[in-house]
Amino acid sequence: MDTTVSEVLRFVEENDVKFVRLVFCDIFGAQKNIAIMPSQLRRAFGQGISFDASAVRGFLDVTESDLFLVPDPGTLSVLPWRPAQGRVVRFFCGIRYPDGRPFEGDGRGLLAEAAARAGREGFTCKFGPECEFYLFTTDEEGYPTRTPHDRAGYCDLAPCDRGENVRREICLTLEEMGLSPERSHHEQGPGQNEVDFHCAGPLEAADNLMALRMVVKAVAAKNGLYASFLPKPLEGASGSGLHVNLSLCREGRNLFDRFGVRPEPEALGFTAGILRRAREITAFLNPLANSYRRFGAFEAPGVVSWSGQNRSQLVRVPAAEGESSRIELRSPDPACNPYLAFTLLMEAGLEGVREGLELCPPADFDLYGAGAAALAGYERLPGSLGEALALASESGFIRRALPGRIVENFLAHKRREFEEWEAAEDKFGFELERYFG
Ligand code: GLU
Ligand code: MG
Ligand code: MG
Repeated sequence: MDTTVSEVLRFVEENDVKFVRLVFCDIFGAQKNIAIMPSQLRRAFGQGISFDASAVRGFLDVTESDLFLVPDPGTLSVLPWRPAQGRVVRFFCGIRYPDGRPFEGDGRGLLAEAAARAGREGFTCKFGPECEFYLFTTDEEGYPTRTPHDRAGYCDLAPCDRGENVRREICLTLEEMGLSPERSHHEQGPGQNEVDFHCAGPLEAADNLMALRMVVKAVAAKNGLYASFLPKPLEGASGSGLHVNLSLCREGRNLFDRFGVRPEPEALGFTAGILRRAREITAFLNPLANSYRRFGAFEAPGVVSWSGQNRSQLVRVPAAEGESSRIELRSPDPACNPYLAFTLLMEAGLEGVREGLELCPPADFDLYGAGAAALAGYERLPGSLGEALALASESGFIRRALPGRIVENFLAHKRREFEEWEAAEDKFGFELERYFG
């Protein structure tokens, strides 16, 4: 049921809500918020609440800096780690120009539009993100150290796994917020953890991920820890990926059902469409210089390929039946802007469906162990942010899927970042300095 504005206003009045956080995301995936007092909420739903868009990287410059946040009433959530008296609630927001036009940099709005377009073609795309992250200890002043919280590995148990209480608190907090995490476990790296969500529509799935990032950071801090979503925080250990499970439904039927037995042409076209665009959209799925340390090892992909239950591939087809049949895209990392990433993935897949694209044969072998000859026929994922940006710059597809202004802003900022990285003597040091803490 859609929550209406009057229901929200009543909730705020009856539940001792004292602060209302208006949350949005910059084009690079960083979460931002403004707190308003409940007295301002009616105005927020009307004309919106203004903010300085020139102070948000990639949005506007100082010559036209006012933008307005308009909360989406359906996204009301209490923030359970804030005080129970004088509660804090949050909304995800749409972003508008002063004259009411939607702002092109509002990734959430772009994803909603893309989902509506897919709906008009008769399709619903479902996304199930699996988010990995590291927990590090903090020093006496509360700043992050580079010491992982434990030395446990994949699915280990306590006491070796010291993350169990943190994961418990993360999952319970998400449930209190009305979200449904599905599973959680210790991951391969020391101090590395994972929380997975059920499959949901694109907007809900991207919102879930933003909520997860906020909750993970908050719960870790409450426990005297620091949570990092950096794709490769420790050299020589597993990176943190954001696997994205994808399925496509028509008239309530999952078209990925029986993919391994008798695949539907739409499921083949969708997968082929994503593989075709995988390289050119990588800058949006893996936006940091650090992202490129993760590829090609520790179960992260290195080339454009697909196969069944094979974790060395870009696209894996997990063992599943009926409703939960899906493909798993293994390249994205948790530093991405999920709204832009999901928009690009959905557009790439649906373009493949429209064109009736054929899927190349599966690469049913271990790509890590394979020699150069076996890999010769496969395109490599970009080896650096610079290469990814060059591919994105040449992409007509990205400019069809996203507004030109956003693409140019994204590329210009990221190119500057890459030049600074290239100039840095200690590159890993630069990455930690810039993105870690
Ligand atoms: N941590 C691996 C990555 O970087 C993935 C491990 C897994 O299969 O969950 O993508
Ligand atoms: Mg994992
Ligand atoms: Mg996975």
